[in-house]
Formats: sequence, C-alpha cells, structure tokens
Amino acid sequence: MLKKRRIAIVGCGGMGGGHAIAIGSGSGNAVWGANSDKETDANIILDKAGDTDISQKLELAGIFDIDLSRIEWAHTRGFKTYDSFDAVLGDPDVDIVLISTPNHLHKKMAIAAMRAGKHVLCEKPVMMNSRDMEEVMQVSKETGMVFYPRQNRRWDKDYRIVQRIYRENLVGSCCRIESRVHGSRGIPGDWRGEAEFGGGMLLDWGVHLLDRILVMVPEKITNVFAKLTHITNDNVDDGFTIFLTFESGLTALVEVGTYNFIGLPLWYVVGDHGSAIIRNWKCEGEMVRLSSWEDKDAAPIMAGAGLTKTMAPRDDQTLQRMELPEVNFDNNELYSNLVDTINGDAEQIVTQEQALRVLRLIDAVRESDRTGKTVAFESCER
Ligand code: NAD
Repeated sequence: MLKKRRIAIVGCGGMGGGHAIAIGSGSGNAVWGANSDKETDANIILDKAGDTDISQKLELAGIFDIDLSRIEWAHTRGFKTYDSFDAVLGDPDVDIVLISTPNHLHKKMAIAAMRAGKHVLCEKPVMMNSRDMEEVMQVSKETGMVFYPRQNRRWDKDYRIVQRIYRENLVGSCCRIESRVHGSRGIPGDWRGEAEFGGGMLLDWGVHLLDRILVMVPEKITNVFAKLTHITNDNVDDGFTIFLTFESGLTALVEVGTYNFIGLPLWYVVGDHGSAIIRNWKCEGEMVRLSSWEDKDAAPIMAGAGLTKTMAPRDDQTLQRMELPEVNFDNNELYSNLVDTINGDAEQIVTQEQALRVLRLIDAVRESDRTGKTVAFESCER
C-alpha cells in the first residue's frame, strides 16, 4: 500500500523555492527564477512521459524561512508556512524535512530534525567535511531516520550519456574522462562567497562533479592532485582543477571555473578505440570510433613550422562518426526513491556512504592544494 509522505522545506530561497514549486505542483520539476519577479507558470516544465508522478508519493506540508519576503512569496503560491524551525519539527503531519538553507546550517538542522523523529532530504553539499558527515550518519543510525543526500545531478542528461559511453565501452575502454563546468560570473554575491557559510566552488559544483565520477567508475582512487583558485576573491575558491588516478590507471580531470569567458566542453572522454565530446547542456556533441589500429600510415601534414605524421587528422575510412547515445530515465527518481526508502520498499540510490566518500575526497583535495603535493587516497587508510 502506497503511503504518501508529507515534506516541509526549511530554507526557501532559490533552491528551496524550486523544490516548493516542484513538489507543490506535483510535477517534480524545480524551476529557476523562483526568487524573481519573472516567475510564471510558463517556467514550469510539465511532467514528461516516464517520470514518476510524485503527487502520488509526496505532498508539500509547508515551508519555513527566516526571510519574510520568502514567506510572502510562499503565501502568493498558496503554500502553508511555519513560524519557526521548531514549529516544523513539532508538526506531527510532517514526515520529511527538506533542508535547503546555506551549507553551514545543514548539520545542526539535520541532527535536530532526525532527533525530532523526521526523515531528512538534505541539499548538497550535505556537510562541509567528512567528520560532520560521520556524526550525522551516526544520528541517522541511532534514530532510524533516513538521511538522504540530494545529489540530483546524477539525473542530468549529459551525465547519463557519459555513463552509457563508459559502461558500454562505446569508445572502447575509457582511459581518461574530463568533466568541466565553466562560467564567467565569479562567485555569487551571497553566502557562497564566505568560507564560514560553506561557500566556494568545491562545495558548490565540486560535490556534484566528484559524486558523478565516483558513482560511474567502480574503482578505488589511488591518488589526488588538486589546485584551488582565487582569481576573483580571497575568501573562497572560485574554481579548481582536480586530477584523480584510479586503480586501473584511468584518470579523471574535474574542473570548475567562474572566470572562463570562453568555456571548454562539459565532457571529453577518451577510450582506447575512440573519443567523445559533449559541448554544452543541450548535449550537443559527437562520438567517433576507430575501425582498426592497424591502419597507421598517414601522409605528413604541415603543422606550424614543421611536418608531422603522428598528428595528421584521420579520414572517414578509418573512423566511424556517431551520434551520442540516447538516454531515458525518470527525472523524478530521487524524490520517488526517497519516499520508497522511507516506506521500506527500496534501498537509497544516493547513499550516505557515497556522500561520505565524496567529502573525504574533498578533504584530500584541500590537503593537496595546501601542500602542493599528490595525496594518496584509497590506497592507504585515511
Ligand atoms: P539561497 O540563499 O537562495 O536560499 C537560502 C535560503 O535559506 C534563504 O531564503 C534564507 O533566508 C534561508 N535561511 C537562511 N538561514 C535560515 C534559517 N536559519 N532557517 C530557515 N531559513 C534560513 O540559497 P540556495 O541557492 O537556495 O541554496 C540553498 C541550498 O541548496 C544550499 O545548500 C545549496 O548548496 C543548495 N543548492 C543545491 C542545488 C542543486 O542542484 N542540488 C542548486 C542550488 C542550491
């Protein structure tokens, strides 16, 4: 018997407002611009075939925010509001608390909610470091309450495509994966610019990109080298480059920049029989596959001031050009799995252990940046 769960959102800014609309409308689609005057129903992308109808599983109990303008916004949409965090925790009709406040508040709110008998869906980065995550996991275990990390970017189309390329060896066996996001607006002028509030790109986009690589590649990471940047401010990292080496020798380059006026592609994948590229969030890109390594001969070409055979481009006789693979998935799977997990009908797709592993990796990234050295990761006990 399906049990519908009631969820209260704490922190109803950009992301929390998106959740309120997604859950309140029953579509499951968060909408950006929830903060702005420009918000219209036209922004809401309606249910797509194949997506779980979350209105059958999840109901918005209400929202709480310390900013009165957000309370007013909630009223304009007809959402119930609470006067305090304690009022949320004291409402017996609330099953789940969705924490969507600035990052430094996640730990204390998650612990308080679980101790009050509420399950927790927590925005990323769930915690600011691995020690805090271990404490929260302990409370989840003690109380029996679900603590669910919201790593929603596992449901991005670009990532799903790369997952297929990697898992099905579509460019042969992968030896290098590059994952990037480049913007040019610096750090947003809010709490994301302050270290004490959990600002910086490593905790913002970093947790997404690292989570996705770690879930995709089922191997231990042997070592990590990283450099954080401070091009636009001194308080927090406004970008980074992380270089991971996996046990098989596969390497992953993970990069975020907020000062890149010409952005590099989101993904570049190299296999032993081909390459793939995804240029942008519209998933424009291509895949090429080699017919045979035997055909090595090439006429030399002029390259700058010299000649090269090695770098001569291939012709279409030895390469097969292909469209990127199709992917189908349930955009509402995370919300749906949260409820199924709470009802005891499923295992968590995004696990606490996975979130802990990413936070441990982030600790290692910080160490590498501080020392300027490569840091051994899962090849030794940390
Ligand atoms: P935001 O600043 O737009 O919203 C935060 C809200 O929290 C504000 O409305 C603020 O008034 C409220 N708040 C602050 N202290 C509070 C308290 N003590 N009690 C109740 N409310 C309080 O920030 P945002 O962009 O919405 O980010 C919120 C969280 O969501 C962050 O953890 C962020 O990393 C995460 N996020 C996740 C994604 C994603 O794709 N998963 C995207 C954006 C943001």
